[in-house]
Amino acid sequence: MDNTGKRLAMICSTCGSDDVSRDAWADWDVRQQDWVLRVAFDNAHCHRCDCETSLVEVEVDPPLTAIHS
Ligand SMILES: [Zn+2]
Repeated sequence: MDNTGKRLAMICSTCGSDDVSRDAWADWDVRQQDWVLRVAFDNAHCHRCDCETSLVEVEVDPPLTAIHS
């Protein structure tokens, strides 16, 4: 999205997995016919640990598109 080429990933501080979610509110958007993220809260959940965790911001290199093949 930005021109710096810098991309971030959010990973679990316990196991390092990026299979993590934040507690959030999503609002229904009538025009988009989809749920739109309104706010993301601080509480995080790791699906690999299957428990609450804290997230660590890491720089991704190479870009995510290369990882999710
Ligand atoms: Zn984890």
